[in-house]
Amino acid sequence: MVDIHIKTLIERDPLMASLVALRDVTWFNPESTTLAEGLPYVGLGHADVQAADARLRRFAPYLREVFPALAASEGIIESDMVDIAAMQTALDARYGKVLPGKLWLKKDSHLPISRSIKARGGIYEVLVHAEQLALQAGLIAPTDDYRQLASEAARHFFSQYRIAVGSTGNLGMSIGIMGATLGFNVSVHMSADARQWKKDRLRAHGVDVVEYQQDYGVAVAQGRKAAQDDPYCFFIDDENSHSLFLGYAVAGDRLKAQFAERGMVVDADHPLFVYLPCGVGGGPGGVAFGLKLAFGDHVHCIFAEPTHSPCMLLGVYTGLHDGIAVQDLGIDNLTAADGLAVGRPSGFVGRAMARLIDGYYTLSDDEMYRLLAMLAHTETLCLEPSALAGMAGPWRVAGNAEYLSRLSLSASAMQQTTHLVWATGGGMVPDAEMQKYLAQGAK
Ligand SMILES: *Cc1c(COP(=O)(O)O)cnc(C)c1O
Repeated sequence: MVDIHIKTLIERDPLMASLVALRDVTWFNPESTTLAEGLPYVGLGHADVQAADARLRRFAPYLREVFPALAASEGIIESDMVDIAAMQTALDARYGKVLPGKLWLKKDSHLPISRSIKARGGIYEVLVHAEQLALQAGLIAPTDDYRQLASEAARHFFSQYRIAVGSTGNLGMSIGIMGATLGFNVSVHMSADARQWKKDRLRAHGVDVVEYQQDYGVAVAQGRKAAQDDPYCFFIDDENSHSLFLGYAVAGDRLKAQFAERGMVVDADHPLFVYLPCGVGGGPGGVAFGLKLAFGDHVHCIFAEPTHSPCMLLGVYTGLHDGIAVQDLGIDNLTAADGLAVGRPSGFVGRAMARLIDGYYTLSDDEMYRLLAMLAHTETLCLEPSALAGMAGPWRVAGNAEYLSRLSLSASAMQQTTHLVWATGGGMVPDAEMQKYLAQGAK
């Protein structure tokens, strides 16, 4: 709980008052700085991200073997990016402003295996753990063909071990499917807001789903506790994990290659803005880190949160990070946006990345639903509500004269800007559920 005097000071701040009143808030951090100045605070570097990429390549033959959906990509889990010009035109009309530059969508919503951004960090962390156990036991050597890990003997070996994780749904899905495929016993501690169909799907994979009536923070704490007394149980700590973070960060160089394939340039005259939905912060923080390493100071990362769960904005703005939760200000952390219903930010990500994130904004659930319906209509692309959080971002940037003057982009650079909205989930939503989302958005 935050000190009562500090709480009063926070509530007197006009921007914080808007946050408490659940109004849309946009804040560009005046302390955001260059990669050179911000990097030392992260404590990780390009070599760490490259090591993560190398590990994913070692596992690629195995992943291809056990997931037929990865045949085309040779075992690499990556998403496409698409231009969404029709959506851009529709949003120009909705927000009453013509956006300079071009709108693109990064379809992590359609990542193979678990259809959300968690297929990056979540799966990667399970692989880190599996590799460590298998190397220690002499089951494999780093130069071996990892397809051996698909054998009955390897699955039997992993079945001695447990993995536990707390989740609002998508992280549990990624870790559950990957862990169970390797042979681990996986327990997913699910918060009250987790969707029934996600729990059902996990149970069908043989995963032990433990349900709570409270939010994500409680589910994580219970998962951590359950793992504490069991030396055979590995707890995946979404609030503090460097492995998860690095799994996400691999996206940076991959995106750079996708830009190069399309002949798209990122430099001072062609800036890149990326809009990332934020929950606890690991996913967007890790991706932003990878993007900064790949594109340097020409990429600008902006985080999007629900008006009812603005934990990262609150943590960075106050400088209290995981020392404050939205509930401390009376904000309820109730949102339909899966993955974003987080009241307290990661203690690691905010401190590490605050200087490298340009800004933060909030939007209502209603707006996410409306954007969901608009994207389905204009581009025939169906996502879950949280994945739309980034879609309002380009117009928040374009409408903020103070931030734009701080960046001092030329008129031609503005016109040559790429706005990339990170669509973080939704490719696995059952049809009946999607129809409900669409009906909600049409209201
Ligand atoms: C988890 C998730 C996020 C945010 O990731 P964090 O690491 O929690 O910040 C965004 N969108 C979706 C769909 C998610 O599942």
